Amino acid sequence: MASPIGHSLAGIVCALAGTPRSGGFWRWVCFGIFAGIAADLDFLPGLLVGDVNKYHHGFSHSIISALIFGLLASYLSRWLQASAFRTGLVGALGYGSHLLLDYLTYDGRAPYGIPLFWPLNDHYWSSPYPIFVGIKHGEPGDSLTEFVMQGLSWHNLYAIGVELALVPVMLIVWYQVSKK
Ligand SMILES: [Zn+2]
Repeated sequence: MASPIGHSLAGIVCALAGTPRSGGFWRWVCFGIFAGIAADLDFLPGLLVGDVNKYHHGFSHSIISALIFGLLASYLSRWLQASAFRTGLVGALGYGSHLLLDYLTYDGRAPYGIPLFWPLNDHYWSSPYPIFVGIKHGEPGDSLTEFVMQGLSWHNLYAIGVELALVPVMLIVWYQVSKK
């Protein structure tokens, strides 16, 4: 997985690409961050059962989940002062940016990758040419302390540095292309 910082940056750029001229800039930034990191809320059920990694990289990392997120996000259209279609589309794209980053990230733990096409098939997809280093957060069965200690490792600081260097470049290019 990429870090929450990389996912947030990707979500923000998706949201800003879709922000209407009528304004609501900071609301769209918050919306983008939430869309960008939402797939990793799959840590929460594991936290409740004392095994943080237990459900990570499950169905929340699938295209169908991005579409459902976009559908649900469209209900925020009034708050974001935009059409339901625009809100839902940007929500799905922001969520989808999470899937793209995780796909492009080296995954050092089984089942290696994300179940992009769940429930159509259970295959886990991972780029043969990963760009990002990947965050260490332990294995299923690790304690919360081990999860936190790995999260605070020098390796993760390096991984975040790579994301900070590469994600904005990739997304600014995409943003410029999408404006044409
Ligand atoms: Zn993820």
